[in-house]
Amino acid sequence: MEPNQNNWLRTNWVEKGDAQRIFVELKFTLRDCNSLPGVVGTCKETFNLYYQETDSEVGRNLRENQYVKIDTIAADESFTQGDLGERKMKLNTEVRIIGPLSRRGFYLAFQDVGACIALVSVKVYYKKCWSIIENLATFPDTVTGSEFSSLVEVQGMCVSDAEEEADNSPKMHCSAEGEWLVPIGKCICKAGFHQKGDACEPCGRGFYKSSSQDLQCSRCPVHSFNDREGSWRCDCEDGYYRALSDPPSVACTRPPSAPQNLVYNINQTTVSLEWSPPADTGGRNDVSYRVICRRCSWEPEECVPCGQNVGYSPAQSGLVDTYVSIMDLLAHANYTFEVEAVNGVSDLSRTQRLFAAVSIATGQAAPSQVSEVIKEKVQQRSIQLSWQEPQQPNGVITEYEIKYYEKDQKDKIYSTVRSKSTSATVNNLKPSTAYVFQIRAFTQAGYGTFGPRLEITTKEEATGKVSSAAIVSSEQNPVIIIAVVAVAGTIILVFMVFGFIIGRRHCGYSKADQEGDEELYFQCTKTYIDPETYEDPSRAVHQFAKELDASCIKIERVIGAGEFGEVCSGRLKLPGKRDMSVAIKTLKVGYTEKQRREFLCEASIMGQFDHPNVVHLEGVVTRGKPVMIVIEYMENGSLDAFLRKHDGQFTVIQLVGMLRGIAAGMRYLADMGYVHRDLAARNVLVNSNLVCKVSDFGLSRVIDDDPEAVYTTSGGKIPVRWTAPEAIQYRKFTSASDVWSYGIVMWEVMSYGERPYWDMSNQDVIKAIEEGYRLPAPMDCPAGLHQLMLDCWQKDRAERPKFDQIVGILDKMIRNPNTLKTPVGTCTRPISPLLDQSTPDFTAFRSVGEWLEAIKMERYRDNFTAAGYSSLESVARMSIEDVMSLGITLVGHQKKIMSSIQTMRAQMLHLHGTGVQV
Ligand code: AMP
Repeated sequence: MEPNQNNWLRTNWVEKGDAQRIFVELKFTLRDCNSLPGVVGTCKETFNLYYQETDSEVGRNLRENQYVKIDTIAADESFTQGDLGERKMKLNTEVRIIGPLSRRGFYLAFQDVGACIALVSVKVYYKKCWSIIENLATFPDTVTGSEFSSLVEVQGMCVSDAEEEADNSPKMHCSAEGEWLVPIGKCICKAGFHQKGDACEPCGRGFYKSSSQDLQCSRCPVHSFNDREGSWRCDCEDGYYRALSDPPSVACTRPPSAPQNLVYNINQTTVSLEWSPPADTGGRNDVSYRVICRRCSWEPEECVPCGQNVGYSPAQSGLVDTYVSIMDLLAHANYTFEVEAVNGVSDLSRTQRLFAAVSIATGQAAPSQVSEVIKEKVQQRSIQLSWQEPQQPNGVITEYEIKYYEKDQKDKIYSTVRSKSTSATVNNLKPSTAYVFQIRAFTQAGYGTFGPRLEITTKEEATGKVSSAAIVSSEQNPVIIIAVVAVAGTIILVFMVFGFIIGRRHCGYSKADQEGDEELYFQCTKTYIDPETYEDPSRAVHQFAKELDASCIKIERVIGAGEFGEVCSGRLKLPGKRDMSVAIKTLKVGYTEKQRREFLCEASIMGQFDHPNVVHLEGVVTRGKPVMIVIEYMENGSLDAFLRKHDGQFTVIQLVGMLRGIAAGMRYLADMGYVHRDLAARNVLVNSNLVCKVSDFGLSRVIDDDPEAVYTTSGGKIPVRWTAPEAIQYRKFTSASDVWSYGIVMWEVMSYGERPYWDMSNQDVIKAIEEGYRLPAPMDCPAGLHQLMLDCWQKDRAERPKFDQIVGILDKMIRNPNTLKTPVGTCTRPISPLLDQSTPDFTAFRSVGEWLEAIKMERYRDNFTAAGYSSLESVARMSIEDVMSLGITLVGHQKKIMSSIQTMRAQMLHLHGTGVQV
């Protein structure tokens, strides 16, 4: 009844715990003022709710004005005194929220300023999301956030035996209302486990799951088993194996049985073998054959391996077809041949080898060619010759026949002279006349074939000038070069004549064009022999590389690091020759026998090559330490670093000249049957005359050594950016895949050592190529060159040009430099269908943003917008300066954007038939 009521009620101190937002639920009854007579003016129908945050209990020491008001609370329903005197009590419920709270606890206070009120209950609580398992991840109890709108992000923990899916870790969000929202990511059961409800259970016995990506456990494949639970793979039964490249899902297999029905055919010193496939392939379809040749003495029978003088066609091992010819056997000798079928698990098996064998005695054979003929004495009317016995006499030589004729005589009527020794004098010749001589040997088995033609001119009758000279170089075995210097001394003819060689060759006339001048030369190409086919690899080195005396080599300084040791520069001084600069690759101390073999393998390969655009091997030092490989010195080092150092400093003709050299080197290697597999600018060396030479030879190790090489799903390491798609996908390495790499080298050269595909990831590169994307033309790159690159990057490898054609195209460009004056995008030629397929169609983009995204440069979207480039038309008019002025400082990105703009411009031109003025 009294005015100015001010009554307070306060709670105990409430510790808030984890809560950030507190809910206060009040239940109360309130009397209607109208029902109270005599209180008009003093009666109220509301009360006030306050709180105060503190870090600890503060007793009664709080003043009223320290409380923070939460709200004035009114009753939804008040009650009156009923007519019959009964009271209708009506309970009100009100909820208020306080937060965010920052101290350790709080008090609540109620201020009554004259209401007739009964506070029945006060409930104080906060909300949380209860722990839950979702997508195999456990999310713990989580208190809601401090704001009504805030979501709390919670990281899930995988349940046991589960792991996070790659790049997709599990997350959920706890809402202010204590509900879990927006699940993202998930866990998956590890290999060996599968999902059952909210848990991962081990695969049962006899089942396996090889990867977390698989959903279900699978039954063990044929010929495999396991007796443990939770296996990721099954073990092979005894006698069955799994090759390293076999996935766990394939059946275990075993080596094949022996080939069947082995038959042979002898033709003098060549034996041909034929057989039928084995009855049991062991369950695999990768059966191949290898043949082992042994020569046996007649009595007692003792056999030794045939060694390297014997040739195999098509090969000694890895034979896919069921036949082989073994050539160059000795006449009248006893041989045994074992033919073994092998498959992907043969090397894993310890069971006895199964093979088919035959013993054969070779027939008689005529002697081989007399090739090393020396002119001893030349007179006016006689010539004295001497020669070496043929390499394979195949019996006792009883006589030599010397055939000769006058060179300029039309009918080539010849005469013969016979000799029992290895020299003869031919008399009754005409003075000052050119004669051609050929010699053959005779044994019981008959005559051998004639050796190469040797041309000699007799002396003039009168005294005076020396009429001619013939130079015979027998050092150059297997190829003997005879150069005849004619009287006038003006015409030089170089004949390259065959000598005997184990490897097979094919010959023909060809146009050589090293410096751009056409000249005809007789080209002989021998076939590359894989040093791995040699049973004894050190024999291979000496077959192909000259052993140097370490005292001839002077090491001067270290210039690089190779896989097996330092690379140095120095001098090589061979007796009777001028000293020369060389690069010396050394094998570090403490090497294993395997490392030594692999190190020398590069020399065995390089030593087989002889071409001005392939790095030349001078020799090896294997009989001393350190073991060394001596190579011609390439003053400017590797091409990629060289170009980066001289960015923008060469003319287009110079760059094309370099490319021409690399293509010529590759043409030679392809003709030899050698597939490089790792052609890249970093593996091309440059000398002081800007001549580029292909280098880095080896077998698999070259690629292992390449820092660019990464493991791919097809197994093995591959330099992805340089490699053709079929080689990445199923390891189909051919000269056509080398052509693809060559296209990338062209791009590297024309962009002065830019990294192909810039900073895209390897995975993105593979995806983009698969979807038809190809590198755009580098800045200022002539359209014709970019077209050639695109041709090298045809998906169908049969469609790519051959190295021979590439050399031809580049030669034409060098001869007609006008064709090199049109950079991509400024010419009016219609766009080829090839370009249409492989370059993004810029006319299809609707916005600058879309375009930037397509060329993976979306990071610069804001730079374009800020500078007002809002339409593709305005972008198409941009110059390099405009691009730089946007604040794009990375040269690679400038070039990428610029070349894309040029392509865009060309496409717009094609579409609208009008040029974009720049
Ligand atoms: P490689 O082990 O062949 O990759 O050689 C390592 C580095 O040594 C190369 O990147 C070149 O810089 C340098 N190098 C190799 N061979 C030669 C050479 N013939 N002339 C000059 N430098 C070379």
